[in-house]
This record gives sequence, C-alpha cells and structure tokens, in this order.
Amino acid sequence: MRVLDDPGRSPLRLHNSGHRGRTTRHQPRSTGQEGSPNGSAAGAVRSYNRHETRAEAAGAVSNGISTTRRGVQQDMSGEEFQTLASDFYGFAEELTPQERRHLAALRTRLERDVRPLVDEAWERAEFPMEVVPVLAEARVIGLGAELTRPFPNSAVFRGWTALELGRVDASVATFVGVQNGLVMGTIDVCGSDEQRREWLPRLADASVIGAFALTEPLSGSDAARGLRTTAELVGGEWVLNGAKRWIGNATLADVVVVWAKDVADGQVKGFLVPTSTPGFTATKIERKVSLRAVQNADIVLDDVRVHESAKLAGANGFRDTAHVLRLTRAEVAWQAIGVAVGAYEAALAYTKEREQFGKPIAAHQLVQEKLVRSLGNITASIALCTKVSRMLDAGTQRDEHSALAKLVATRLMRETVALCREACGGNGIVSDYGVGRFFADAEAIYSYEGTYDMNALIVGRAITGHGAFA
Ligand code: FAD
Repeated sequence: MRVLDDPGRSPLRLHNSGHRGRTTRHQPRSTGQEGSPNGSAAGAVRSYNRHETRAEAAGAVSNGISTTRRGVQQDMSGEEFQTLASDFYGFAEELTPQERRHLAALRTRLERDVRPLVDEAWERAEFPMEVVPVLAEARVIGLGAELTRPFPNSAVFRGWTALELGRVDASVATFVGVQNGLVMGTIDVCGSDEQRREWLPRLADASVIGAFALTEPLSGSDAARGLRTTAELVGGEWVLNGAKRWIGNATLADVVVVWAKDVADGQVKGFLVPTSTPGFTATKIERKVSLRAVQNADIVLDDVRVHESAKLAGANGFRDTAHVLRLTRAEVAWQAIGVAVGAYEAALAYTKEREQFGKPIAAHQLVQEKLVRSLGNITASIALCTKVSRMLDAGTQRDEHSALAKLVATRLMRETVALCREACGGNGIVSDYGVGRFFADAEAIYSYEGTYDMNALIVGRAITGHGAFA
C-alpha cells in the first residue's frame, strides 16, 4: 500500500515545544492498544513510517486512515482507497470504484502537496497559490458540471471530495467551494450554453479564478431583499454601481459573479464581471481570526460597464440565486464534516501520546467521552449529508433539506472542534498541534452561506408555513 508521505512539519510531531525555532521531533510511542475496535488505535504511530510494506500495514491505521481488511478497497488503477477511521460506519465504501479511486488520488496529493503548506499560509494570511495547479490536476474543480466533470459522478462523491479538502484545510476547501460551487455552479445553473462553454473549462483548469459577490456591507442575511448594488441597461451595456463585502478569492480573481438589482424591474440579476473592468476595485479584508488564508475582499463597483452579453441568461431573480445556494450549502455541510474530522484526528493522536497522571490522557474516561462525542457528531453528520446528497441526485432535494444539513453539520462541527481543542489542553490553541487552525476556521464556516439562524428560518418556514425572517 502507499503510506502517506511525511506531512512535513506536521504539528503532531512537535510535541515538546510550541516555539517553532526550538521544536524537537517527537518519536511517537506505541500505545499498546492496536487491537481496539475498528483497528484505529495505532493512529499517528503508524502514519509516519515511510517504509511500511503492504503486509505490515494490514490492520494498522495511517494518519487516521483505517487499513483494516474491511476498510481497504483495492481498485483496478492501483490507487487504494482507505476508509478513514473517523468514517466509523464505512459510508465511503458505498461510493463507486471510480469515485473511490479519485478520492484516493486526491488524498495522496493533499497530503503530499497541500498539507505541508497550510499552517504557514494561515499564519501569514496568504493563500498558498502553489496549491491551485495541484487542485486543478486532482480534478476537484468542475466535478459537477457536465461540461467539465472527469466522469459522471454522484453528489455523495462530490460531498466526500469537500470532506477530504476540509480535513486538510478549511481555507483550501473554501477556495474550491467558491470556484467550484458558487462560481461554476452559478454559470452552470444560470448561464447560457455559450457562457458555459466560454467560462467553465477555464475555471475547471484554474486558468481563470472566479469569485461570487452577493453579500454587501449593509446586506448579509437579508440579501434576498436588501441588496443595494444596482444594474442599469444603457445602450447595450450594463452599468453596475455599489459595494460588496466578504467576497472570497476576490483579490485573486479574473472574473466575479456580481449580483445586483436591475433598476428597471427591481429584480436581482447576475453578471459576469472581469476584474480588469474600469471602476472595479477589490481590497483585502485584514486581521481575520478565522479562515485567514482565504482572501476575502471589499469590492467597489463604480460605474462598471460590461457588455449586455455579460448578464447570466438565467439569473433573473433571487429565486435563481437561492437555487445556486441550495446546491452549495449541502457541500459546505460536507466541508464542515471535513473540518471536524481534521480536528478529531489530530486530537485523537495527541491524546494517545500526551501523558498526565502517569498514563496517556486518552486513557482517562472524560477525555474518551470528548473523543467519542466528536466521533458521534461526525458519524451523524456523514449520515445526514449522505442522504441529502442522494436527494439531490434523485431530484427531490429542496431548499429546506439543504439548509437543515448545513445548520446541523456546522453546529456539530463547532461542538466537535471545541471538544477536540479542549482535549488538547493549552496546546489545543497552538496551530502547531493540529487542532487550533480547525477550531478557528470553524467559526467562519458556521456563518457563511447562510448563518445558522437563516438556515433555521428556511426550515422553519417549510415546516410551519410561516416565514419568520422579518
Ligand atoms: P448579518 O446578516 O448582519 O447577521 C448578524 C447576526 O444576526 C447573525 O447571527 C444572523 O444570524 C443574525 N440575524 C440576522 N437577521 C436575523 C433574523 N431575521 N432573525 C434572526 N437572526 C438574524 N458572501 C459572498 O457573497 N461571497 C463570498 O464569497 C463570501 N465569502 C465569505 C467568507 C467568509 C470567511 C465570511 C465570514 C463570509 C463570507 N460571505 C460571502 C458573507 C456571508 O455569507 C455573510 O457573512 C453571511 O451571510 C452573514 O451575513 P452578515 O455577516 O452580514 O451578518
């Protein structure tokens, strides 16, 4: 089997110093619990052995990845899919062989080419642009669009892709979520054939970077009725004026999907605006404490003129925006599970190595309860998201289904990262130890693509028949 490459300066190897300059390499020791349920006890001990053979690895765990007989799926391509130990019921084993193969290859690339970069990027609040070609080559962008998908696939598989990304880094997962779901999703759902042909292939190979501008300084949760950005058709050109806030990837982007109210009919419409257009400016939002590597920006649109053809053909009212958000919310729910998994795996490994009162803290009952509650949250969320994605494939998913998945998965993620942080004590707030970054990043995910409250109101309206937004 292919053992994951050394994740470089993985925090789990840096146990004896929180100071990077004085870091000592930690030699994980055997826990003596290799026979525990799901074969998951060896954890981090086995994950850094580069020379392990397939036979030696059987029954062990690599970096939270179960390699038990049940969990290993050998596919024809030679890429092995290993069920995550945190996928306690083995949901991912229900994916097709081709989907599992794709995920296995993605996981290998993420461990090798992405994980080593993300802590530093988070510290510096810069997006690691080196990962963009890696993501494009791994074909994680454009998985859902007929024009760009590498093979026909299920929404459950696309959810697992978001989980794998989130498990390594929430900022990278968010970058993909914007490019893939919000930008390509809007063009795929609302664009004309010509617009799809023009933009989707270039977005999928990341030769073009996109952003999605809905939120404004004075309008977040009430975007359906509160947008102030205007669009006016003047002599064959749309003239856009207004301001946007929080727009992910905007300082890196070549094109932005801008949502604005048509002054003629008061309807919210979508426009493809190249960032080189005169009158367009994007300024990075500084000093964030969550998702620091994501480049969020304030945008100003000052008499920005685009050709009539830049209007997305099928984006003619907020109903169309909501359609896109229904699709992306379910993927954010999967991404949130990934963040919970990332924190859980780090906390599990840490607690098996850290000793207090003469034994690993993982051997104390109260610490085990935190880990088990986290695993329960993850397992329940995977079950929920698997179903909501199946509903999408079956054509039965509605706004309230996707909203419920997002609000439950993000609430459980928030609880999980806090439990995992707590289980690591003081080291839980230092990013070197693997949990702190997930803990901080969970806050933004909890609030974007509809806050917990907004999603609750969407579900509340569906079950009571009463809209309680205003
Ligand atoms: P507000 O709407 O001001 O809400 C503040 C609080 O009031 C929340 O708790 C909310 O739930 C509550 N509240 C508001 N109204 C009600 C009500 N009727 N009943 C009960 N409670 C209510 N937007 C984009 O368009 N594109 C992006 O790429 C993008 N990326 C983002 C990335 C990050 C990291 C973040 C933090 C945000 C991003 N957003 C983006 C914006 C995001 O979608 C908004 O932050 C979110 O919709 C909430 O809006 P707000 O921040 O203005 O909060």
